[in-house]
Amino acid sequence: MNDVAAAPLTNSRIAAAYRERTPGSEQLASDANSLFPSGITHDARNVDPYGVFIERAEGPHKWDVDGNRYIDYFGGHGALLLGHRHPVVTAAVREAFDEGTQFGASHPREVQWARAIQRLVPSAERLRFTSSGTEATLMAIRLARAFTGRQTVMRFKGHFHGWHDQMASGYTNHFDGSPTPGVLPGVAEKSILLNPGDIEGVRTAFANNPDIAGVIYEPTGSSFGQVPLGADFAQELRRITEQYGAILIFDEVVTGFRATKGGAQMAFGVRPDLSSFAKIVAGGLPGACVAGRKDLLDLLDFKVAERTGREKISHPGTFNANPVSAAAGTAALAIIAESDASEHAAATAASLREKLNEVLAAERVHWAVYGTYSGFHLFVNPSGLDIGPYTFDPAKIPLEDMKNQPKALVNKLRLAMLINGVDLNPRGGGLLSCTHTDDDVANTTAAFREAIRMLKQEGELAG
Ligand code: PMP
Repeated sequence: MNDVAAAPLTNSRIAAAYRERTPGSEQLASDANSLFPSGITHDARNVDPYGVFIERAEGPHKWDVDGNRYIDYFGGHGALLLGHRHPVVTAAVREAFDEGTQFGASHPREVQWARAIQRLVPSAERLRFTSSGTEATLMAIRLARAFTGRQTVMRFKGHFHGWHDQMASGYTNHFDGSPTPGVLPGVAEKSILLNPGDIEGVRTAFANNPDIAGVIYEPTGSSFGQVPLGADFAQELRRITEQYGAILIFDEVVTGFRATKGGAQMAFGVRPDLSSFAKIVAGGLPGACVAGRKDLLDLLDFKVAERTGREKISHPGTFNANPVSAAAGTAALAIIAESDASEHAAATAASLREKLNEVLAAERVHWAVYGTYSGFHLFVNPSGLDIGPYTFDPAKIPLEDMKNQPKALVNKLRLAMLINGVDLNPRGGGLLSCTHTDDDVANTTAAFREAIRMLKQEGELAG
């Protein structure tokens, strides 16, 4: 994102109205600033002048410390397909919590949790739990390298796989693959960064480089399809990786149990060698896993290492398969398996996308709302392309335009939406849960109309 197109917040009526509504958050933000870099604990929560501090949440809604209610599209960074505080998940957590939170031993709940994942994801022949998606992709890459004896990993520009060294370049910057601060050049060098969807580039890279251990990507496209990818690309990647004996890794940290109940791999009919899951997999608590082919996961197995003479890959982790997370994950996945939660959230999202585009058309704003499954993205058209909300085709937009949404303008839109009771994600889009209702859609649409008018009044938009 770049910093263009919005007037400074000091003269902004939107920012003034936001401050007026959120004095408690402003006070906490000032405390937080003396404790945390930027006053925040996750980069995606960075809001100018400050974000709201949330006190409680229920279903699709959350309330800040000043008592303001928001329709929540941040959705726990994607973890909350079932909404906040689902009663069955909450009861499972309470029960597990009362039995103890850390046994330093194997426990029945981790077996149930793994079975619940396997039930929905047949490619998960074996699993290993981790505490975060970052750790899951870290292990997936390590397994791919150790298994193939190769070093290079193929990735796609804008695809996010967590923040470990191998993944730091090429998400929001360093698209040339150069190392970000603190990362060893040798680590960054071992990535091939291609344009998403560039299947010819994939073929050429494999033809010219015998050192590619595997390919990792977000199967529906970066940030849940902000730059969308479909089944064709997945199927072609499957064919090419098989041809070259490389490992295909689906990063299903967001798409898992959301795109369909079996993830993107089920939607596309592709069986990856390895997958990473986080967010929904742990039912709204911390937890994640790497899952896939037995022969790959066998690299973590003591007996197999002994038998084959291959050095075992070490994998500790204090909170791996934490019993409380296991209880939440098992309960959430059972609900997802037995209900239409993913489809229901997707249907509500489709209706929301349509309604928001109606606002754009009526207000004559040359932006577009688009997306797939239970997500929506906002394209604010930084280069002033000739697009309309109904004819918008993200596949036709240059990658730079898709990813370089003007940060200051989107920030101001977010403030305007917060004033009107809606919390969007930092890209001005969001993810829905199965608890969002037609009423939430109607209220979000009204909020969006009002926010657009506020931006117009501040001279941010023509019309
Ligand atoms: N992969 C993807 C596709 C993600 O969206 C994320 C988190 N947003 C991660 C990996 C990292 O997961 P975590 O935040 O649990 O480390």
